[in-house]
Amino acid sequence: MSAPLSGQQPRVHQWRGVIEEYRELLDIPQDTPAVTLGEGGTPLVESRWLSEVTGGQVWLKVEGDNPTGSFKDRGMTAALSVAVHQGAQAVVCASTGNTSASMAAYAAKARIKPLVLVPEGKISAGKMAQAIMHGAQVIMVRGNFDDCLKISRGLAEHYPVALVNSVNPIRLEGQKTASFEVVDRLGDAPDFHLLPVGNAGNISAYWLGYRQYAELGRSTRLPVMRAYQAEGAAPLVTGQPFPNPETKATAIRIGNPASWKLAESAASESGGRFASVTDEQILIAQRQLASNDGVFVEPASAAGIAGMLQDLERGESYADKTVVVTVTGHGLKDTVTALEGFGDVVDNVIDANVDDAAAVAGLV
Ligand SMILES: *Cc1c(COP(=O)(O)O)cnc(C)c1O
Repeated sequence: MSAPLSGQQPRVHQWRGVIEEYRELLDIPQDTPAVTLGEGGTPLVESRWLSEVTGGQVWLKVEGDNPTGSFKDRGMTAALSVAVHQGAQAVVCASTGNTSASMAAYAAKARIKPLVLVPEGKISAGKMAQAIMHGAQVIMVRGNFDDCLKISRGLAEHYPVALVNSVNPIRLEGQKTASFEVVDRLGDAPDFHLLPVGNAGNISAYWLGYRQYAELGRSTRLPVMRAYQAEGAAPLVTGQPFPNPETKATAIRIGNPASWKLAESAASESGGRFASVTDEQILIAQRQLASNDGVFVEPASAAGIAGMLQDLERGESYADKTVVVTVTGHGLKDTVTALEGFGDVVDNVIDANVDDAAAVAGLV
């Protein structure tokens, strides 16, 4: 019989969440206890499909593998840890779905009250289920995300609740750890980093992280940041807010990004840019990624992939380059939109026998 394992040192390193893994690199009070669900440490998966298509080396940073299924957990562990440390009893956020799912989970872990404002009728069922299951009070607003954010700011200003949207700079401190992980895994920064953009916190955080690692000498270069918005919600492309943003990629359905200035700096300082892609391009990219690479992401998360394919069509080259594309959230969050293009999903119904199955499968 083998000896009992309890009390022994773990034999392999277990990921401790982004605060414990990178604490000294985060601009948060260093004595903040971590409220963590083990976020971060997400896989960097090579896309054989996109490497073949581009002639480069294309990596997917699969952020759907975070505890609540999106990159929001990186920022939320930081924001909730600091809020609790500072005595917060309640937290509030505006959300297109993933921020509220994440905030509700971390608030449950911290045993404080989560209050969520979402645009009425625009949240996927999966994300809504997460917020409700984690015990959030959900308030539906007749308006869009930008309206929800205004209300959340107002509540935090006048009432004892902490705002944890990405206008809270602590969020970006947590989210920048994704860049650290990319460099730690590849040994240096990539040539290009592509990602979807909505409220623009994530691109700002990545750029913060890449710059910090370069300053510390942990990387020798900075990537070119290329960011993609949905055509119906593309203020960073046109330079004007969208009063009525519309896209099936609900996680980036944002007309007036809070981190507008930071995102513009990230694009310009890195020699990068913003571009828009249509919903059709996004949904095609989503499907292709799932069937070619085995990575199922939600629609918004496929915007970076759609953007890369569009760049190629327009004559851009990624040949011989190292490219990281962040895929921001898990496909299971919104299966309704994913399946919309498929008509009848199961079109073969048979009696329960092998011969019929073989015939329908084309094996005989
Ligand atoms: C929040 C989110 C985005 C957009 O990120 P921003 O930081 O708002 O630009 C993209 N995809 C998914 C899945 C998200 O949850």
